[in-house]
Amino acid sequence: MKQITEPARQIDVIHETDVLVVGSGPGGLSAALAAARAGVEVTLVERFGCFGGNITVVGVEGMHWYRHEQTVESMGIPKEFEDAAKDAGAAVPESQSLSYEIDSEGFKLVADRMVEEAGIHPMLHRQFVAPIMEGDAIVGIITESKAGREAILAKRVIDATGDADVAHRAGAPTRMTPREEMMAASVMFHLAGVDKTRFMEGIKADPQTYADWGGGGEWNIETSGKEDEMFSPFLGKPFAQAIKAGIIPAHLNTIAGTWGAMHDTGELTYMNLVHLDGVDGTDPDSLTQGEIEGRRQAMLAIEALKRFTPGCEGARLRNFGMSLGVRDTRKVDTVYEMREGDVREQGRFEDSIGIFPEFIDGYGVLILPTTGRYFQIPYRNLLPKKIKNLLVSGRATGAERIAHAATRNMACCAVIGQGAGVAAALSVKQQGRDLDQVDIGDIQKELERQGARVF
Ligand SMILES: Cc1cc2nc3c(=O)[nH]c(=O)nc-3n(C[C@H](O)[C@H](O)[C@H](O)COP(=O)(O)OP(=O)(O)OC[C@H]3O[C@@H](n4cnc5c(N)ncnc54)[C@H](O)[C@@H]3O)c2cc1C
Repeated sequence: MKQITEPARQIDVIHETDVLVVGSGPGGLSAALAAARAGVEVTLVERFGCFGGNITVVGVEGMHWYRHEQTVESMGIPKEFEDAAKDAGAAVPESQSLSYEIDSEGFKLVADRMVEEAGIHPMLHRQFVAPIMEGDAIVGIITESKAGREAILAKRVIDATGDADVAHRAGAPTRMTPREEMMAASVMFHLAGVDKTRFMEGIKADPQTYADWGGGGEWNIETSGKEDEMFSPFLGKPFAQAIKAGIIPAHLNTIAGTWGAMHDTGELTYMNLVHLDGVDGTDPDSLTQGEIEGRRQAMLAIEALKRFTPGCEGARLRNFGMSLGVRDTRKVDTVYEMREGDVREQGRFEDSIGIFPEFIDGYGVLILPTTGRYFQIPYRNLLPKKIKNLLVSGRATGAERIAHAATRNMACCAVIGQGAGVAAALSVKQQGRDLDQVDIGDIQKELERQGARVF
């Protein structure tokens, strides 16, 4: 490949902080809030124009859809996100669980307010492009924006980009699932103009269960058996009919999935129907193809719904997510990698920073936390190898396949974030103690003070 040499240049240091969080999804927003509440200066950098990550950027509204009567909750910030959205009128009851579906637009305002109230320094529209290193320690980042390249210095950095952009560029070892085995990417969309009464009558007349998920692609699943008879807001039949009618090509039998909430105002939201295999979220060319192909498939799905789903005859596209939704890219090779046994068999750790109910969703497995079982997440899971001053939060923490299918869930990413934020803050407050030297008892105490369940 042809190459050029980029000339070295001086750039301005525009800001300095104690804890710098890069990326503001469930993993980053919760890290920033936790660090600020633990009493240090915090800055939150985000490449887009709103906080919230997949919730607001992609339109993933089902944060606690796993919750049933016996579910033991993590509490802390993940629960706060749901409560704050509810209080702000930005949540409606979710269709399959004892939870509220978070409104992806309304949550932009909820997040703004939480950031402001916690005294976090907000920096939107800045993309991390390079770490600033002193030997093996990260001491800041370089961002790129309309203002060009700028430097931000920090005592501790939390990588919450989802794709481990910071850790990877800083030289921490990372792993990628091979492209052909990655979880599918999705273009998410919301509909307007749906007749709620007729739609809900249709759902009641032919209720779907998790056993019906065996549709193809992402939707071929193994359950623990107890999920099979439970209601699921699954839509598969309209697309099978559309294939028969020649509206959807036969090879697109991957179009199927779930709806989230049916609003009184005729909006049917969180349409998780398009699944694209082989999209690499770290390759912009692959992302470009995924966006375009995903939007094309979404319109086929909408046509099928209009023809074959009661109440959807007059439906129209309200909006696509601002970005393609990516489920699976780099994972950091952290000091402890979560294993399949940890999430299936109630892993317990002395250095736990939080718990997550036994909810596994991905790579062909669906297990719901209907029994009160849960696992703990160790602090070592947030510590990258080789690089100092850096923690990882969210879906990029080290995890084997099935473990990732549990830890990638937004509420678990927020649990991890709260642990990362508290640990980073305490390491600054304890005379700059290295992140791997912070007393775990102190971290756990502060997490409990903040309302999180640690054991
Ligand atoms: C289509 C889809 C449906 C899903 N459904 C569910 C569901 O129903 N329930 C559930 O719990 N989970 C679901 N998930 C999984 C869940 O959304 C993610 O695993 C979770 O959001 C990851 O959280 P995170 O904070 O690690 O990353 P993200 O939510 O991806 O947030 C990362 C943030 O970092 C920013 N960022 C990235 N790179 C940079 C950079 N270089 N510089 C600055 N900012 C950057 C991004 O813009 C983003 O705001 C779904 C995922 C997808 C894609």
